Amino acid sequence: MRCPFCGNVDTQVKDSRPAEDHVAIRRRRFCPACGGRFTTYERVQLRDLVVVKSNGRREDFDRDKLERSVRISMQKRPIEPERIDQMVSGIVRRLESMGETDIPSKQIGEIVMERLAAIDTVAYVRFASVYKNFQATDDFEDFLAELVPPNPKPEA
Ligand SMILES: [Zn+2]
Repeated sequence: MRCPFCGNVDTQVKDSRPAEDHVAIRRRRFCPACGGRFTTYERVQLRDLVVVKSNGRREDFDRDKLERSVRISMQKRPIEPERIDQMVSGIVRRLESMGETDIPSKQIGEIVMERLAAIDTVAYVRFASVYKNFQATDDFEDFLAELVPPNPKPEA
């Protein structure tokens, strides 16, 4: 595995352990060339998914991209990083179990929103506002008025 900091290909695994309820292996890696430390995850790739965008363009499904957009919506929210990993893995498993290799981006967005709504309302609204690409403030306010997340949890 190439070091993301200096490009050295000869990095070492310092620690491997199961993660996300044994769906992934988390490896802590060390680069002897620059002293950099990084983490990789190993997962079963059940199938190669293709995202079909609303304009008809197709691109390979990118788990990291999905994870980034979820993390952005959860910025500064009191949510464990491990929980985000679990959520993203859950979404990927669901996509993989749908039995189709081509998945409309709209459908992925809806699954993400459904999961976010169950975890954190603020993150859900952030993601939804980007995802739905609201043009007018009025649209966004209408959407907020309709917002009833499934299984709302009382504030701890
Ligand atoms: Zn390095």
